[in-house]
Amino acid sequence: MAYVIAEPCIGTKDTACVDVCPVDCIHPRKDEPTYESETQLYINPVECIDCGACVPVCPVTAIFALDDLPEKWGNFTAINADWYAKKGIIPFIAALVAERRGLKAPPFSFLAAQ
Ligand code: SF4
Ligand code: SF4
Repeated sequence: MAYVIAEPCIGTKDTACVDVCPVDCIHPRKDEPTYESETQLYINPVECIDCGACVPVCPVTAIFALDDLPEKWGNFTAINADWYAKKGIIPFIAALVAERRGLKAPPFSFLAAQ
């Protein structure tokens, strides 16, 4: 059962949790392109090993084990998981669009050749 980042992260987003996670399953990190545009960070439910190391370092108590997640933030389980579900397809589409516009070397030239 993965840990979940809930509403209090919004507007704080200091990445203290990223620095202590032993499996690098909290994103986006500050060095990732989507960091600025995201309102909060998200825990990858597949990669999280439930160690709990991120919980005490969060300055706004935004991280919860699934069983401890307050009911009012129950939707954040899906919000965290959905962010990773979308990650697979969005970079793919972005790269394809960039390629068609001639913005960078085409990683998907087999699809563009029509
Ligand atoms: S519980 Fe452990 S593995 Fe899961 S996000 Fe927090 S630090 Fe990372
Ligand atoms: S430590 Fe808390 S507030 Fe900071 S990024 Fe992680 S979840 Fe958000």
